[in-house]
Amino acid sequence: IPNRFSGATVVVTGAGSGIGKATATRLLAEGARVIASDLDADRLAALVAESGEAPLLTIVGDVSDDAVIASIVEAGEGRITGLVNNAGIMDSFVPTAEIDDALWERVMRINVTAPMKLMRAVLPAMVEAGHGRIVNVASEASVRAGASGTPYATSKHAVVGLTKSTALFYGPAGVRVNAVAPGAVATNIEAPFRSELGAKRLGPIMQATVPEPATAEQLAASITWLLSEDSANVNGVLLMSDGGWSTI
Ligand code: NAD
Repeated sequence: IPNRFSGATVVVTGAGSGIGKATATRLLAEGARVIASDLDADRLAALVAESGEAPLLTIVGDVSDDAVIASIVEAGEGRITGLVNNAGIMDSFVPTAEIDDALWERVMRINVTAPMKLMRAVLPAMVEAGHGRIVNVASEASVRAGASGTPYATSKHAVVGLTKSTALFYGPAGVRVNAVAPGAVATNIEAPFRSELGAKRLGPIMQATVPEPATAEQLAASITWLLSEDSANVNGVLLMSDGGWSTI
């Protein structure tokens, strides 16, 4: 494993499980100081236990909550160099006519509004330092409808607009903002490739086109590449990390 992140302080949301946990673990292994946020205190405690002496701070709470965002920024002590907006939720594969307002608002709040608010909170210090690296976790549902219900697909398409627009405005200030689109990844989220509900809603043919699930570590490799200087000339992209699903 290289050591690409010594001196970096990186915020990872949803770091208690799946892709976020693998990303936080990879960043710690490569020398970063990590601020890990998750709703679930037990999952964060497990991450701490598994991380030994590594410089890891944890913030428990809903990352769409302004007070939690303020705590994350405070924990960064003005030195946040990277942000991975990873926390996200699925939508029970609901089609438009069956969307209830509470589900719509929850999916949009956690998948779109929280990443916007976190970027808004960390950007001023990054601009001042002339350096920042942000990765937003989008989805296969950012480019196709067959990976989720309507609220999630809408939210993950929005993540791409949020990413490109932020990259446009802050690239000149030294801040790179990219998104990664996982295909199917074996985590705790309710994904179409192993969900009865997904099979019912999206159909067996759609499900049959989904490649074998990736590991969270494979996604962490894509995310940390975008955070690292190896992606120096890359800004505002949506990197498909889906085993080729998007070619179908
Ligand atoms: P996961 O459910 O395994 O982990 C997500 C973590 O985020 C959980 O620990 C959860 O407690 C936390 N979380 C959820 N809402 C939160 C909130 N409001 N505040 C703080 N923490 C919160 O999921 P995952 O599969 O690792 O998903 C990570 C990201 O990857 C999500 O944005 C998801 O949409 C995206 N994604 C996943 C897949 C897949 O197949 N697993 C595919 C495409 C995109």
